[in-house]
Amino acid sequence: MNWRKIDLTAWILLGLAAGIVVGLLQYWLLPPSVNDATVRYFHDPVGRVFLNAIRLMVVPLVIVSLTLGTAAIGDLRKLGRIGGKTMGIYLMTTAIAITIGLTLASTVEPGSNLDIDVDASFEGRVAPPLADTLVDIVPANPFAAMVEGKMLQVIFVAILAGLALAAVRERAEPLMGVLESLDAMIQRMVIMIMWIAPLGVLALIAKVIVSEGLAVFLPLLKYMACVLGALLIHLLVTMPLILTLLARVSPLRFFRNVYPAMIVGFSTSSSNATLPVTMEVAEHRLGAREEVHAFTLPLGATINMDGTAIMQGVATVFIAGVYGIDLSIGNFLQVILMATLASIGTAGVPGVGLIMLSMVLVEIGLPVEGIGIILGVDRLLDMSRTAVNIAGDLTCTTVVARSEGEFDPEVFGAENS
Ligand code: ASP
Repeated sequence: MNWRKIDLTAWILLGLAAGIVVGLLQYWLLPPSVNDATVRYFHDPVGRVFLNAIRLMVVPLVIVSLTLGTAAIGDLRKLGRIGGKTMGIYLMTTAIAITIGLTLASTVEPGSNLDIDVDASFEGRVAPPLADTLVDIVPANPFAAMVEGKMLQVIFVAILAGLALAAVRERAEPLMGVLESLDAMIQRMVIMIMWIAPLGVLALIAKVIVSEGLAVFLPLLKYMACVLGALLIHLLVTMPLILTLLARVSPLRFFRNVYPAMIVGFSTSSSNATLPVTMEVAEHRLGAREEVHAFTLPLGATINMDGTAIMQGVATVFIAGVYGIDLSIGNFLQVILMATLASIGTAGVPGVGLIMLSMVLVEIGLPVEGIGIILGVDRLLDMSRTAVNIAGDLTCTTVVARSEGEFDPEVFGAENS
């Protein structure tokens, strides 16, 4: 069974469209009491079942596929090369993304002449220092790391195990066999769970529309348009350029292949929860082999957030505008550096976008309460930037897989939509 035969992708797209239509119709036509009931008895439980079902696959999938992938590479030099390229591309694209956000926002000036109440109740949370995050990559207890879903720690354990397996070759064979069976089982479980994705996507999207409403967007339309515009520029200009120049593949085909993962990312607002779908797409629709995607994607879901970086760029300029503070070129450079580093420093923290933003604001001396202004519209933007984050992870995966000879053009080019 593969993606083509089950034609799940079309159903996922349909789920997205139906979620938007159902949500809007309910919002416009039904009284709030009925809407509350449908959210409570349908949208919320169905959405949560789907979310939990894909989340439950994250840790087993990363452990098994990354251990196997590392063991298959088996060579520390190649592994180091893949790691170096991946980190380089992740940091570069994040820096480009935030520059786009800053530039567009400085041109549009979404925060000027805005008469708005500041909800000062938002308290910025501080992330741990970068050094702590790096030290924390090595867990004292691997099981605790898995239970708590600490992705960088899980990645560390899996790579170490894979290297050890490669080193003891013959004696590792029985365990490799078991891991390969587990890998096949887990991949099939993901496909089975994906059967409920269309309904899950529908429920999650409709729930957002019904419970958030649309009126809250009005005062902040310019800010939202600015974030969405910058996301689109990154998606339609930066990524196609990288795909064409560095991976020499058709961007159009790329997006046709990866859109199911972007839709699931959009509806769940979490790169981490979407990881099983992203990996499935990389394997069966993109043609990136496990040796590469088992490394690039879990790492990307944790530290590579182009969409989030864009929001930070726009939000910084917006909040400065609202408070009438001028930003210098030096401030801009600070934001680029800070946001890029923050993306690593906040690895694995939920609701990471706004935490990173509060770090950036503190760094350049802007009021953190400013986040209170954009909080109300952040849900929709979070959905959109998560889809972009996932596209960014898959773009990097394509480049690295291609350059390492771990790319299957037939899978990429197959008529598998
Ligand atoms: N929701 C985003 C993601 O998981 C992160 C964020 O911007 O908050 O990719």
